[in-house]
Amino acid sequence: MLSIKTFVEGPIDANNYLLTDEDSREAVLIDCSSSRDEFVNSIKDANVTLKYILLTHGHFDHLLGVDKFKKEFCVETYVSKDDMTQVELAPQMLGIFAGSMTEDIKSIKNFVSDGDEFKIGNYTIKAISTPGHTRGGMCYLVDNKLFSGDTLFQGSVGRCDLPEGDLQSLISGIKNKIFSLPENTEVFPGHGAKTTIGYEKKYNEIINY
Ligand SMILES: [Zn+2]
Repeated sequence: MLSIKTFVEGPIDANNYLLTDEDSREAVLIDCSSSRDEFVNSIKDANVTLKYILLTHGHFDHLLGVDKFKKEFCVETYVSKDDMTQVELAPQMLGIFAGSMTEDIKSIKNFVSDGDEFKIGNYTIKAISTPGHTRGGMCYLVDNKLFSGDTLFQGSVGRCDLPEGDLQSLISGIKNKIFSLPENTEVFPGHGAKTTIGYEKKYNEIINY
């Protein structure tokens, strides 16, 4: 069994998903948006071996906890190389959005590319590149569940008006790569409520515009 726990954390309420293979207790954290002790302790209490942190993209509101998690759990963080410019902008962006500066993010030294696979126990997590919200946007697919970051939301898509955003790429990535998944695939976005591929094909106003 694969269990999924959602933690809403950070200055813009990002969803962090802890996926655990119940047999081996190996786990992956998809996005890591806060270094709060309460968040760290929740992961400790989950009693798992945290093997990777996989980032859906390099925006500051999805990665503010990675240095702390590296210290606490000795876990490496993966992001697309194309989003390192975003990672470097993180302190500045935090300053703009949340009013306080922080140190540079130091612990991201591993990169994920389209098609890369990560294993926890018997489960394989596959990376699917979906640029548009940022140049290095990634979705992660495992066990009929898609973790879509800020690429696809319930009824909407991520904004493309920030630096390096591109709406045309975003839409074509969703149509060609994401909407080819089975309709009953559950979608867990980077913010807000979960959805399914079938629902979005029917009702997503931006993609169907
Ligand atoms: Zn974002």
